[in-house]
Amino acid sequence: MGPEKYDLHNHSDFSDGQASVRDIVKRATKLELNTIAITDHFWPCLGSRRTGPNHIEQRRDIIWNLRTVFKPLRILDGAEIDISSDGSHANISNSLDQFDLIIGSFHFTLDSTTWRSALGRAFTKWRFDILGHWDGYLTSFREEDGRAVAKLLADNDVAIELSARYETNHTVFLEIARDEGCEFTLGSDSHQLREVGVLENQIGLAKAMELPLKVIR
Ligand SMILES: [Zn+2]
Ligand SMILES: [Zn+2]
Repeated sequence: MGPEKYDLHNHSDFSDGQASVRDIVKRATKLELNTIAITDHFWPCLGSRRTGPNHIEQRRDIIWNLRTVFKPLRILDGAEIDISSDGSHANISNSLDQFDLIIGSFHFTLDSTTWRSALGRAFTKWRFDILGHWDGYLTSFREEDGRAVAKLLADNDVAIELSARYETNHTVFLEIARDEGCEFTLGSDSHQLREVGVLENQIGLAKAMELPLKVIR
């Protein structure tokens, strides 16, 4: 099994996804993935659904139970966190340290100069593991900004998601980032069960462009 047998971006019914955490995990096992990350939005992030003090902990209990049942699948307790234009993150309850994996994502349209400055500020304030659907909301792309962003991501050890949900518009950025030494991850951004692990196009893109996929341990 290669390192690409994973899906690191999935929404369950703890946010705006349709499937239960258990059904996502069952499907990941059926697909023989070695790692699945459940990465819901939590209040006040866009797409969060459940509120109340304990829903993050409730989902964590479910994940812990499933880990004992679905060995050897690695199940990551993750979150997708909104990045603001000033680089700050949405303040969810408790610290971000509680998660195994954090995807940082922009959920508003922005040009590449704003993208670059927001990320520059973000890395002075907090840390995340993956830049989610990196060009999903980009309205423009200047190579100069792309080079600066690639360097920021490489320096901060942040991987770049190859997303199945959003079309990749600026493939030149992937080349720049590869040459800067960045690593890449696969994420379906599934909101429905049948979308979990459907990543053939992204695996093909990584192979065609020789993008190194991050090995998850
Ligand atoms: Zn997103
Ligand atoms: Zn998402």
